[in-house]
Amino acid sequence: MFQFKTKKTILDIRPYVPGESKSDSTERLVKLSSNEGAFGPSPKAVKAMQEAATNMHRYPDGDANILRDAIAKKNNIDKKNIICGAGSDEIIMFLCQAFAGEGDEVLHSEHGFLMYSIYAKAAGATPVSAPEKDLIADPQALLDKVTDKTRLIFLANPNNPTGTYWTRQTVVDFHTRLPKNVILVLDSAYAEFVDDPDYTAGHDLVKQHNNIVVTRTFSKLYGLGGVRLGWGHASDEIIDILNRIRGPFNANRCAQAAGVAALNDDEF
Ligand SMILES: *Cc1c(COP(=O)(O)O)cnc(C)c1O
Repeated sequence: MFQFKTKKTILDIRPYVPGESKSDSTERLVKLSSNEGAFGPSPKAVKAMQEAATNMHRYPDGDANILRDAIAKKNNIDKKNIICGAGSDEIIMFLCQAFAGEGDEVLHSEHGFLMYSIYAKAAGATPVSAPEKDLIADPQALLDKVTDKTRLIFLANPNNPTGTYWTRQTVVDFHTRLPKNVILVLDSAYAEFVDDPDYTAGHDLVKQHNNIVVTRTFSKLYGLGGVRLGWGHASDEIIDILNRIRGPFNANRCAQAAGVAALNDDEF
């Protein structure tokens, strides 16, 4: 018998297995399994981080003001509706901790990002998976799984690893049919890679609806996976709740500096 009391759902978690990083092959290999930037980070981000390192005895700005200013400007959104995290993973964790607990359900599609169910269980909640159609999240299948216990729905848009996405209209139609007390999280980790005009990362929708959250990351397009930096965009009400459980210095000094420099280096 396990001696210490923990949440039942935590004992259900199988730890996340990161993409393979070693191989015996002598051929030149390209690692695709974690979607890391193939061209490395921006040299300006590296330089900014080196400069920040000389001040690493100082705690970072806990509110990440300069970084949030830069994110707000780049995405044409309000700074007060942005929260930064140690990767967008951490924002996903905050959402589960804040809004789901024992007896609650966290919904995701069959091939959704593994961390949704891991963080749901860590919070004591029950992850619920909805089947996909042709490897695409199926709006009706997700709606069929919504119950009065559903608190959060996670949708990676575009999805990893399938690369499929819902158009803005599909997201809007889906959201319209959701109960108002359910939070729809659009995980837009790959938003920068889509240029179809029918797609939205979701920031326009966050401005209109207090129950839509968008998460973004510096790990993919910006190639900063190693420093762990991501952010979320949500209504005043939701940001207020998330800030209550956020560690005071969760986005570290070097990551903040690298993030600001990367955002300002479109050329790279
Ligand atoms: C990589 C990835 C994330 C997490 O990225 P962070 O490095 O934690 O910012 C989230 N969602 C999806 C779908 C991803 O592929």
